[in-house]
Amino acid sequence: MDEEAKENYIRAGEVIQDARQKAREVSEPGTNVKVIAEEVEGLIRDEGLETAFPVNISINDEAAHYTPAPDEDRVLKEDDVLKIDIGAHSEGYIADTALTVNPSGKHQEVIDTVEEVLASALEFIEPGITIEEFGSYVEKQVPPQYNVIRNLTGHYLGRYTQHAGVSIPNIDNASSHEFQEGDAVAIEPFITTGAGSIKEGKPGNIYKQENDRNVRGRHQRKLLGEIKDFNGLPFTSRWLSSFSGREKMAMKKLIDAGVVHSYPVLNEVDGGIVAQAEHTVLVGVDDGDNIVTTRN
Ligand code: MN
Ligand code: MN
Repeated sequence: MDEEAKENYIRAGEVIQDARQKAREVSEPGTNVKVIAEEVEGLIRDEGLETAFPVNISINDEAAHYTPAPDEDRVLKEDDVLKIDIGAHSEGYIADTALTVNPSGKHQEVIDTVEEVLASALEFIEPGITIEEFGSYVEKQVPPQYNVIRNLTGHYLGRYTQHAGVSIPNIDNASSHEFQEGDAVAIEPFITTGAGSIKEGKPGNIYKQENDRNVRGRHQRKLLGEIKDFNGLPFTSRWLSSFSGREKMAMKKLIDAGVVHSYPVLNEVDGGIVAQAEHTVLVGVDDGDNIVTTRN
């Protein structure tokens, strides 16, 4: 890993550490979840970086891929189990992290457990171990009262690419791919009181430009012009200058034409409570030790 890449990964991680702190501070019952997302995204921009994707705010049986709408009305409740997934990049070098909070404390055990599973996983990973060995180890760290979500994975990070190369499952799998010194990876176990699998639900206000196909129609071209500023990274309707009837119709047409992808919310199949923990790791770069960029 060259020095410039390493410095940028570390810089992105430092800002993300502050963003995690902010996320905890603002996650009070009665708060509209749009405020939580915007406070965290605002801190990233105030500290001079750019978001790598909209802050994901996923509650209870939602595992991922919901971000508040421009006219969001959901409010955080005492017993909610809230996953906050945050990404920022410095010159395209990404820090990706997630935490889970539960204001009432009723579900603290599942949160503590997933944090412990992640901490063990971060200790285990080193150059030379395979993704199969890693996944098998992580799965074994999950106590019997919970299930690991089998179809959600960690991933490699690339410059301006959140999901690069092979994925990193948290279960025994058939991947003989070996971690190498200098790999930048996001490790993210999800555990649940449910069956341990997710299915696709409703659209979650998160989009990504897929291509630049010939787009017809004035409103679609205007919307796409604004979308291009996101450089192919995921974005949300909250970040557009306007998202009223005209833009909603243009977005629908861009989605139908395959120019823009709309991410569905991922829900646990049994409606189980889901907890997530995630950190970004530079494998073996500190004299053979890992640097966890997003952990302070
Ligand atoms: Mn993430
Ligand atoms: Mn991730």
